Amino acid sequence: MLSGWRDAMARRPWRISAKLLIISSVVTVIGFSAICVNVMLDMRRGEEALARQTLENLATTIDSDISRNIEIYDLSLKAVASGMLLPELATVSKSIRHLILFDHATTARHFGAIQVFDAEGRLTVDASTLDPSPENRSEEDYFKVHRDNPEAGLFISRPMLFRGAYSIVLSRRIGDADGGFMGVVAGSIRFSYFHELFERLNLDPSDTITVLKRDRTIMMRRPFDLDVIGKNLAALQSWKADNLKAGGAYEGQGPVDATPRLYVRSTGSGPLFVVAGKPLAAVFELWQKEAVRIGAVVLALILFMLASTLVLAREIGRRAEAERKLEEMATTDALTGLRNRRKFDQVIDVEWRRAMRQKTPVALLMIDADHFKAYNDTFGHQAGDQVLVGIAICISDSVSRAGDCAARYGGEEFAVLLPNISATDAFKVAETIRVKVQGWSDDQTSSTVSCGVASFVPASGTDWPILVAAADKALYAAKAGGRNQSVIATLPKLSLVA
Ligand code: GH3
Ligand code: MG
Ligand code: MG
Repeated sequence: MLSGWRDAMARRPWRISAKLLIISSVVTVIGFSAICVNVMLDMRRGEEALARQTLENLATTIDSDISRNIEIYDLSLKAVASGMLLPELATVSKSIRHLILFDHATTARHFGAIQVFDAEGRLTVDASTLDPSPENRSEEDYFKVHRDNPEAGLFISRPMLFRGAYSIVLSRRIGDADGGFMGVVAGSIRFSYFHELFERLNLDPSDTITVLKRDRTIMMRRPFDLDVIGKNLAALQSWKADNLKAGGAYEGQGPVDATPRLYVRSTGSGPLFVVAGKPLAAVFELWQKEAVRIGAVVLALILFMLASTLVLAREIGRRAEAERKLEEMATTDALTGLRNRRKFDQVIDVEWRRAMRQKTPVALLMIDADHFKAYNDTFGHQAGDQVLVGIAICISDSVSRAGDCAARYGGEEFAVLLPNISATDAFKVAETIRVKVQGWSDDQTSSTVSCGVASFVPASGTDWPILVAAADKALYAAKAGGRNQSVIATLPKLSLVA
């Protein structure tokens, strides 16, 4: 098998053309670029996934801290709400009542003092003092919600100024055994709690933390801006309940500024949730640097490769042209411009075998200048050359089919191969040439030619020299017959008449 391949290589050496080189280079460049783009996009996705995970962890950590504090505070509210129903409470002193109702959790730094309001909104008990000054909160949201809805549970108010500090108010209803409204217990978590919580984290100035209520009201935000606190984002497409779900994320503009960020929501299920945001520029900063670096190197490589390809392609083109010229020179007769003997032998070999396969005739004219020696002797060799050129032109003008091959066979002898035509048609071509030479030379040189014509359908097992021999024989007959004439060959034994 290998030897078969070697034979094929020896017969027709494999050559790379300029076009093939350019196509393969372009395909390589496209493939290479596609791989690079893919790798870079993968890297980008990796950076994004990492940032998303980090933000999710951050949001969830903040969320759990807030939820835990709300839960602790809510336990205290619940304890007060149920404690207020104890009948014994009316019989004990105010300080004992305080001890019964309030635990120490409610005295933590950022928690406001718990207050109890009766069914009319009047302040009755205040954890911070035994003798509270009269207050009425019947118009506050946190009071009305519990008065009007026994199922409100823990109500978290919008952020508000509560007892001189920005806070969110947490409240619960006090209801008797029959569900009757007995009042409201309320407390607060101050903004200072959030400020301190956010300060503990190592965040970039452009990173954002937004704490929201489930109805999408902003409870707190970092960087702090009083104007956005209390704003409801339920109408904002990306922040809608359907879009920004627990653990969800999106890339785009936020509710406050135009900086595009990666926003990730916490996974917690408390009454508040947290959305952490990081500018996309910061998320992809490293990746961008890397992408520019790799992109520049790849671009330089691609340009280098394309430039080398162009140089190589031009060199290949030049060589191909030189080879073509060399081949033309090697197959052309220098004096007459016809095919030379070498080329003729190749062509007749191919045509003979084709005619044998296709069982079609192949005709050959052997043409010889008459009394050429005498002409040379009389007019000189150079004049003789001019006659040969003139005869060649007469031959070319008479032979026009694509497969025809006119050649200088040697000296003052020419051969014309005419595939697929009969002896009669070949004879007509020979006569055309002969008459043309005579007509041309009448004015100047009075040169003539004699033609031997042969046409066979090659019999299998025969070779083309028999065609040459037959045409040659006919040529001798023409010479013997007085020259300036064409003669058709008689059939050799192994051939058929065309
Ligand atoms: P015939 O009619 O029998 O063919 O006679 P002839 O003189 O043409 O034949 P011969 O074979 O005796 O002579 C051929 C001559 O052709 C000999 C040579 O001087 C001349 N000849 C061969 N090649 C060239 C060539 O390239 N240039 C010139 N000028 N003459 C050539
Ligand atoms: Mg001659
Ligand atoms: Mg001769």
